[in-house]
Amino acid sequence: MRCKFEEHYVKSGRGGRKLDEVRDKYQKACRKLHLTHNEYVLLLCEAAEFEKDFRTVLLPGLLEHQQSQQEAFISTWKQILNDIASNSDLTSEKFKEIQKRIEVSIELIKPCDEYKDFTEKHKTTPTEPVKFTFDESLVEDSAGKLLPNQLTVDNLTVEWLRTKLNDLEASIKENQEKRTTITSSHEGVVNGKTTPNSEVNNRLSSSSIDLSKKEINELKCQERKMQKQTDLIKSALNELGCEEAPAACDLSIDNQTFISNSPEQGNGSESALSKRSIFERQRIVNMLRKPFRRKSAPSSPIAPPRTKGRRDSAPRSEGGEPVSATANKSLVDEEWFHGVLPREEVVRLLTLDGDFLVRETTRNDECQTVLSVCWGGHKHFIVQTTAEGLFRFEGPAFPSIRELILYQFNSGLPVTSRSGAILYKPIPRERWELNNDDVVLLDKIGRGNFGDVYRAQLKNSNEIVAVKTCRVTLPEDHKKKFLQEGRILKQYDHPNIVKLIGICVQKQPIMIVMELVPGGSLLTFLRKKATNLTEGQLMKMCMDAAAGMRYLESKNCIHRDLAARNCLVGYNNVVKISDFGMSREEEEYIVSDGMKQIPIKWTAPEALNFGKYTSLCDIWSYGILCWEIFSKGSTPYSGLSNSKAREKIDSGYRMPAPENTPDEMYRLMLRCWEYKPENRPNFEQIYTVVETLCAAYRVSFC
Ligand code: ADP
Repeated sequence: MRCKFEEHYVKSGRGGRKLDEVRDKYQKACRKLHLTHNEYVLLLCEAAEFEKDFRTVLLPGLLEHQQSQQEAFISTWKQILNDIASNSDLTSEKFKEIQKRIEVSIELIKPCDEYKDFTEKHKTTPTEPVKFTFDESLVEDSAGKLLPNQLTVDNLTVEWLRTKLNDLEASIKENQEKRTTITSSHEGVVNGKTTPNSEVNNRLSSSSIDLSKKEINELKCQERKMQKQTDLIKSALNELGCEEAPAACDLSIDNQTFISNSPEQGNGSESALSKRSIFERQRIVNMLRKPFRRKSAPSSPIAPPRTKGRRDSAPRSEGGEPVSATANKSLVDEEWFHGVLPREEVVRLLTLDGDFLVRETTRNDECQTVLSVCWGGHKHFIVQTTAEGLFRFEGPAFPSIRELILYQFNSGLPVTSRSGAILYKPIPRERWELNNDDVVLLDKIGRGNFGDVYRAQLKNSNEIVAVKTCRVTLPEDHKKKFLQEGRILKQYDHPNIVKLIGICVQKQPIMIVMELVPGGSLLTFLRKKATNLTEGQLMKMCMDAAAGMRYLESKNCIHRDLAARNCLVGYNNVVKISDFGMSREEEEYIVSDGMKQIPIKWTAPEALNFGKYTSLCDIWSYGILCWEIFSKGSTPYSGLSNSKAREKIDSGYRMPAPENTPDEMYRLMLRCWEYKPENRPNFEQIYTVVETLCAAYRVSFC
C-alpha cells in the first residue's frame, strides 16, 4: 500500500482525489499491521508470565492438592477400618450368638428328608415288559433239525457251542474278579469314612461308593445275562453227554452207492427195535449176559463178505467166557474195531438196532475213540478219559477201551441213560477193510492228488498191488473224498475198470489198495511208446475204454474225469479206466460248489456252462480221449488257453483229426463233440461202432 501511495504521489504531483483514497488505504493497512504487532507483543508477554507461574506456582500447588486429597482418603479408610474392627469382634457375645444360630440351622439339614419323596414323585408308571419270543416260522422248513428256542447241538455247531461256553465262563470269571476288586475298594472307602478331619473326603467317598454300587449292579446284570446263556449251552451239551454230536446233514453221496454186496441188508429205519419179535428180544437179552469173542481174522483180505442183518450171526462166546480171559488183546486186534473208517461208512454198516462198532476220529488234532451204535438212528459215543487215565462212558471206568466195550456189551446196560442204546451185535470189518500192517509198500510208482502211489505187496497172499496213499496232513474232508474212489470202485468188476482190493483205514495213512496195472498211466504210455503202436492197436485202446465206459454207463456211474491221464495200461496194452475220485453214481449230477479243478478241455459244454453232468458228458470226454490216443498223447487244443478253447468250442470249433486217424474214428469223435448232449451217441452205440472198426482192422485182442 505504501508503494501504491508513492506511485500516485509521483504521478499526481502530491494532490487529487485518487491520491487521497490511496493515502487512506495506506494508512488503514498501516494501522492494521501495527495493531497486530502490538497484540503479538502482548501475547508473548502473557505467555512468558504464564509459563513462569505454571512452573513456580501452579504445578507445586497441584502436588500439594493431591497430597491433601490422599490424606483425606486415608482418613476415610481409617475411619471405615475402625468401624469394622469394632463391629467384628469374634469374642463379642453378639457374634457368638449368631454363630450358634448358624450351627443349629446346619444341623437341621437332613439329606434323606429333603429327598424322601423324590423317587415317588419322579417315578414313571412301569411299562409292560417286552417279551422276546422265537419266531417259529423261521424254522418251519428245517425239517425238525432246528427247534424253536432250542439250541441245536450237532457236528456243525458243537465246537462253536463249546468255544462259546468257554468264552462265557471266562467272561463271567473276569466279571466276578472285577466285582470283588470294586467291592474291596468300596469297603476301604467305607472304613476310611471314620477317620477324623475328613469332612470333604467323606463327601467324595460317598459319591464314589455310589458309583461303585452302580458299577457293581451293572456287572451283576451282565453276569446274570451270561450265566443264563451258559446254563442254556451247558444243558444242551450235557444232554449230549459222551455222545458224539449227531450229523447236521446227511452227507453220504448216495445210499445205494455204498450198500454192501449182501442181499439181506435191510433198511436201517425199518429195522427199529419195535419191529423185532418178542422172541428175538428175549434171545437178545440172553445174549447180553454173555461176553463176545473176537472172530478170527480173515485169512485173506479178499475173503467173501460176511452175511449181515441177521442176529444169529452175532459173534459171541457160547460158553459165557469171562471178559478177563481175553483181556490181554488190544483194541485194534478186534474185528469190530474199524480204525479211521469215515462216519458215513460206519452208518452204512450199522443197520439193525444194537449193531455197533468202534472207530477212531480226529477232532482238533486230537484222536478220539468213538463207539458207534445203531439205536433208532445212529449214535456215536466218544470214549471219555478220566483223570486217572481210565476209560468210561457214564458207568464204571476201565483201564482199556476194549474192556469198557466188553463191559458195555456184557452188562446189557445202555451206554448212556439218555440214548438208551444197548450193544447187541459187534459188526466186524468188511472184507474191504484191510489192516494197514497187511500191506508192505515197495516203491513209488506215481503221484496222485492226495498222496503218492506205491507198488506194494500184500503180506497174506504175496500179491503185488498198487497202493494209493492219502497224506496224513490232509484235512478230514479231503480224506473222505479220497476214500470216495474206494467206495465207488468196490462195486465194480470189469476187465476195463481198475479193480479195488481194499481200503486200509486201521490207522494213518489211509490207503486204497488196487490191482497193479503194470503199464502205468495211458498218457505217459502214449507219449513214450505210441510210435510203435499200429492204428489197429490204438483203435483197440479206444474199444477197451468204450467197454469200460459202457459198463459204468450201465451202472449209472458218471466218471466226470475221463482222460488219458486217468486210464491205466495193463498187460497186452489193455486200457483200464481209473481215478474215480470225481465219479458219481447218479443219472444226473449238478455241481453247485464252484467249478474248481475242472479239466476244462475234457469237459462237455453243458457241464462247464450249467454244472450239469450226465453220462453224455463222459461221451464228450471219451471223444477227447480217442483224440489223445490217436495224437499219441498230445495235449488237446494245444496253444489255446482253457478259456480260449471253451470260447472256440461254444462258437462251433472242433479239433481237427490227428494224423493217421481213420475217417470213421474221426467221425465218431465229432459225434461225441455234438454241442447238444442229446445228439451224442451213448457208450453202447460207441462200443458197437468201435468194435466193428476194430474187427475191420483185424486186431488180435489177445
Ligand atoms: P489221483 O487219483 O490221486 O490223482 P491217480 O489215480 O492219477 O491218482 O494216480 C497217480 C499215478 O499213479 C497214475 O498216473 C499212475 O501212474 C499211478 N497209478 C495209479 N493207480 C495205479 C495202478 N492201479 N496201477 C499202476 N499204477 C497206478
